[in-house]
Amino acid sequence: MSVSTAALDPSVCALLPVLGRDVTVPLVTGGEVTYAALDYAASAPALQRVWDDVAAYAPYYGSVHRGAGYLSQLSTDLFENSRRTVAEFLGCRAEDQVVFTRSTTDSLNLLAAALPANCQVFVYETEHHASLLPWRNAQVTYLDAPRTPGQAVETLERALADRDPYGPALVCVTGASNVTGELWPVRELAAAAHAHGARIVLDAAQLAPHHPVDIAELDVDWVAFSGHKLYAPFGSGVLAGRADWLRAAEPYLAGGGASRKVARRADGGVDVDWHTTAARHEAGSPNVIGVHAIASACKALTEAGFDNLVAREQELVSRVREGLAEVPEVRVLSLFGDDAPRVGVISFVVRGWNSSHFAAALSAEYGIGVRDGLFCAHPLVRTLLGSDPQEPGECGAPEAGPGERSEVGVPPAEGRGR
Ligand code: PLP
Repeated sequence: MSVSTAALDPSVCALLPVLGRDVTVPLVTGGEVTYAALDYAASAPALQRVWDDVAAYAPYYGSVHRGAGYLSQLSTDLFENSRRTVAEFLGCRAEDQVVFTRSTTDSLNLLAAALPANCQVFVYETEHHASLLPWRNAQVTYLDAPRTPGQAVETLERALADRDPYGPALVCVTGASNVTGELWPVRELAAAAHAHGARIVLDAAQLAPHHPVDIAELDVDWVAFSGHKLYAPFGSGVLAGRADWLRAAEPYLAGGGASRKVARRADGGVDVDWHTTAARHEAGSPNVIGVHAIASACKALTEAGFDNLVAREQELVSRVREGLAEVPEVRVLSLFGDDAPRVGVISFVVRGWNSSHFAAALSAEYGIGVRDGLFCAHPLVRTLLGSDPQEPGECGAPEAGPGERSEVGVPPAEGRGR
């Protein structure tokens, strides 16, 4: 569950019964604090099952694809079995590849690096920056924010109808918005893309933790997601889908593991025979613990049953939305309207408050953790805020590096967003 504030007001107390308090966290200084962690859309802690699986494997950690020793063999099996588990979780087609990356951002940058020459990319301005920004070497068409799911499909169809029908094209769309929680009409967008000879990649960073994502059933070409949003925060992500563009592309990283054979040439240069499997884009020693954690989370979610998870989540979403509706100063942000299907991600503004101040007050005074700012989706949040915009800031670490003046402990700057 995740609640975010984009700009807020004097209603902290009124919000308390709505937001609740539900996590007891031990403090490093001793004692404990009861805390409502409502920022899982940003990053979620590991499920107990994931911790247990990682802990059980940790003593057997070994190199992957790099040795005949017992630990190396075991780790290689674990790594490749995790690939199969993720492929199953995503309903991959026989010819699909599952590439392990660091995150959704990494996955989409990998795909951007693998685009064929002269590829046109179509992306809604409403996307998370991870989906909006990686396409630097392509000709990008930014689509206006639609106000209904139907409008999203129409906007895409219009844009695709105008494109060069002979060149390659890619549509990038999120499955569930990290700002509004709203579900996008992925199946219809995939059908529109394919009808115009384009391919489509699904940013499932927010969708995969909440809904089944079936790549074949949705008929999307690629899916990207992050372990840390799927209750597997050990530094791995996934890009799964069509092998052809990935196989034809230069390796994302060059190095050991991506190359099958490397030899000096007579002229003094070096010849490299790169893998054509997922390993082509996985150079370097892989994060086997992160990958194992993702596979463990996939199994745990499948066993819990998405029907049960969705039903429980929808109860919680209704409870929070009904409670927020009773606070007159609060406006819940929505692109598609109140009745749109959504996952458990809710953002709201409260008249008169800066979001950083309000979020800090919620945490410090009331033990409630929410995400504040512009959620790495600046154009979308600006559209949603309308006449009440905040100064956008950057998503990421403070600019001061280690040893330099840092923002830690400094009250948030007026209007700073992330
Ligand atoms: N896409 C969406 C919809 C997201 O919510 C996020 C993270 O917030 C990302 C992409 C980027 O994910 P990561 O930071 O794990 O690369």
